[in-house]
Amino acid sequence: EEDLALLTEGDEEAPVGRAAKNLPVLAVVGRPNVGKSTLVNRILGRREAVVEDVPGVTRDRVFYAAEWAGTDFWLVDTGGWEDKVQGIAYRVAEQAEVAIELADAVLFVVDATVGITTTDEQLLKVLRRSDRPVILAANKVDDERGELEAAALWNLGLGEPHPVSAIHGRGSGDLLDAVLAALPEEGRGAAPDDGPRRVALLGRPNVGKSSLLNRLAGENRVVVDDLAGTTRDPVDEKIELGGQVWTFVDTAGIRRRVLQSQGADFYASLRTRSALDRAEVAVVLLEASEPISTQDLKIIDMVLESGRALVLAFNKWDLIDEDRRRQLEWEIEKDLAHVAWAPRVNISALTGRHAEKLVPALRTALDSWDTRVATARLNAFLGTLVAAHPHPLRGGKQSRILFATQARTRPPRIVIFATGFLEHGYRRFIERRLREDFGFTGSPIEIGVRIRE
Ligand code: GDP
Ligand code: GDP
Repeated sequence: EEDLALLTEGDEEAPVGRAAKNLPVLAVVGRPNVGKSTLVNRILGRREAVVEDVPGVTRDRVFYAAEWAGTDFWLVDTGGWEDKVQGIAYRVAEQAEVAIELADAVLFVVDATVGITTTDEQLLKVLRRSDRPVILAANKVDDERGELEAAALWNLGLGEPHPVSAIHGRGSGDLLDAVLAALPEEGRGAAPDDGPRRVALLGRPNVGKSSLLNRLAGENRVVVDDLAGTTRDPVDEKIELGGQVWTFVDTAGIRRRVLQSQGADFYASLRTRSALDRAEVAVVLLEASEPISTQDLKIIDMVLESGRALVLAFNKWDLIDEDRRRQLEWEIEKDLAHVAWAPRVNISALTGRHAEKLVPALRTALDSWDTRVATARLNAFLGTLVAAHPHPLRGGKQSRILFATQARTRPPRIVIFATGFLEHGYRRFIERRLREDFGFTGSPIEIGVRIRE
């Protein structure tokens, strides 16, 4: 009874998000020179808190951690893209479309001293088509006299124009109040960094989950009370591995062997789901000594659906001989081709063989999961790819790829803007090439297509 309550606590139908609450995202759009950068710096208090700065891959300095009146949100500075993107031309309307794709609300900045230009009109058209709330900032209202000009912007139909002086700070508090009112409580941005990474150990009964957990925990179990900022959750265990504390989620479900009896499949799949809900990366254990089963594949599918990072661990390696090893390689090629990108470790929870290899695999998978590819790099890559391999002609029509951007991380989601439908096979081809170029080892990647008329 008790265990069932534990397992069904979370709403099964809830959309899968990250384990911690996702923050709302505000995109700042506007034509050049209206004062976007100045306003962004004003909002950030000139802290320049660049967060997505992973060496090697991430060079797009556009996501900033912002805070107002105790609410955290991400700020996306679309102005930062204008001069960076090589290859494919980057027009202002496209900037707005990307912003809409990324954000929960859009801060549209105009220069009140100039009024509305045709470029502003272009942006407006795109913004009106979207269902995102738009907050209108009438910038460069440095004194009272400017307020009249700002008031004239009522006729844009975007609601109240918020007069602001990005340079002097005038009106910025009221503007931010309006922004907060427009942002949803939970958004589409990544969860903030909040302590140890969360790992789920998954696998069918008897594959060795509790043996592995015991082996990993050993003397490495962290007394929760010693760790600042963590709540005592009997369901999870904190274990220090490789000089880093990890949270193994839902370990109570592993240790209490209630799932063996009646309805085992049903409860096991509930447990898997609840663990995935709370984890960032899943270690799926498979039994090296036995054929890969449909149950194993079902669990892997659940990980893929959840969008979590994935590591495959072949356990009971101590039991297998050379013949079985060869057989296994063949099974992996046949059954696990769709997750060939997942790191594999061959371990024995019983003897401890190679258990230490789990940590680098987890780190690799999580790094990929967190990766943000700069818009410029992504478009340079796509430009070359598409030139060499255009989308196949269908019915005399050719879908053309215009540009792409990575809309989110955890897992990476890439949105391609195209003139028409992109076939599944072509999308898979792009995904394959993306992985060749950018890695993404251990992380699923999502590819979305937006069609622009
Ligand atoms: P962006 O291209 O939209 O990012 O615009 P910038 O932030 O680079 O600003 C363009 C110019 O407008 C710069 O010379 C800023 O100093 C100026 N500017 C920005 N905000 C204000 C403002 O509130 N009042 C006045 N008078 N000038 C501003
Ligand atoms: P769980 O149901 O996934 O938690 O699996 P257990 O950890 O309870 O393991 C099931 C059985 O497999 C136990 O008898 C373990 O001793 C055994 N076992 C687990 N890992 C290994 C291993 O690496 N090698 C061998 N030979 N047996 C193992």
